[in-house]
Amino acid sequence: MTVLIDPFDRAIRYLRVSVTDRCDFRCVYCMSENMTFLPKKELLTLEELDRLCSNFIRLGVEKLRITGGEPLVRRDIMTFFRAMSRHLDSGALKELTVTTNGSQLEKFATDLYAAGVRRINVSLDTLDEAKFAQITRWGRLPQVLRGIDAAQAAGLRVKINAVALKGFNEDELFTLTDWCAERDMDLTFIEVMPMGDLGNEDRLDQYWSLKDLRARLAERHDLTDLAERSGGPARYVRVNDTGAKIGFITPLSHNFCESCNRVRVTCTGEIYTCLGQEGHSDLRGPLRATAEDALLEAAIRAAIGLKPKGHDFDYSRQTVDGQISRHMSHTGG
Ligand code: SAM
Ligand code: SF4
Repeated sequence: MTVLIDPFDRAIRYLRVSVTDRCDFRCVYCMSENMTFLPKKELLTLEELDRLCSNFIRLGVEKLRITGGEPLVRRDIMTFFRAMSRHLDSGALKELTVTTNGSQLEKFATDLYAAGVRRINVSLDTLDEAKFAQITRWGRLPQVLRGIDAAQAAGLRVKINAVALKGFNEDELFTLTDWCAERDMDLTFIEVMPMGDLGNEDRLDQYWSLKDLRARLAERHDLTDLAERSGGPARYVRVNDTGAKIGFITPLSHNFCESCNRVRVTCTGEIYTCLGQEGHSDLRGPLRATAEDALLEAAIRAAIGLKPKGHDFDYSRQTVDGQISRHMSHTGG
């Protein structure tokens, strides 16, 4: 069995799967307030998701991240997590993980741990209750904080993902870093991406460069760059005085494309081999056409064969060049 290798000789080891387009929050940079969600028949069923992921794992994927929308609002999603744990048991899958807004963690943290999940990412941009309600529109901070408590109590290692937003959480830089260090959680800042449609809100106004953020951090802390690479857009530093690790995800820079080992599948079974490109292929057709996996495998291989070298985001000319129209909730973060 030959593993998945793209035209630029990158082995595909990391799959992110969005299991739903729905969410119980309406973060302003991700969704509009009035979202029309997909009819159920468009979504891959849990059985189809199982078949899809199992095929990728058979073809060499070692890390599986479940995302959305909000993955933990999908009905019966724990059935899927439990099913995936068989690939952890066999050793084929090295890591099963999830990116969540944290709203359902109080309910599911123990089940996630039991299914073999050991690390999770929780998205949290602010520790201020009013600002949290403002940025997520429908989210409530205490619920998420209880979820994080439950996750840590269950034994899950928590990483916080915070979108860096100019004029919004700039003033919380040290509050966030201190809070994460105290709780022994890693923290990653994400540069806001020109995704979807924010109506009147201008993403260029919200853009806070992580270079600036890092410089602000260095004013107070002694930072050491870490060599660690995830095959993705994150770079890490060690905060020497607290021991904490802080990551920076700058998806707009091109400097990680050469090591990109990941692909994404949407909740409708479209495979995107590059977050910054529109190009995608359909895997739902082959999944639904026959119970045999040969067609699906051929479609996966064909899609990987089209993985582009890199992406086209560019803020440098003060216009959002390379803007792509789909929402993050569609492809998953
Ligand atoms: N609902 C889950 C959550 O919020 O963690 C998983 C899906 S969400 C789309 C995944 C990540 O994408 C979140 O960390 C979110 O902050 C990030 N995200 C959404 N829209 C973004 C944007 N326009 N720019 C940068 N990050 C974004
Ligand atoms: Fe929902 Fe996550 Fe998008 Fe926020 S970022 S609206 S929590 S999918």
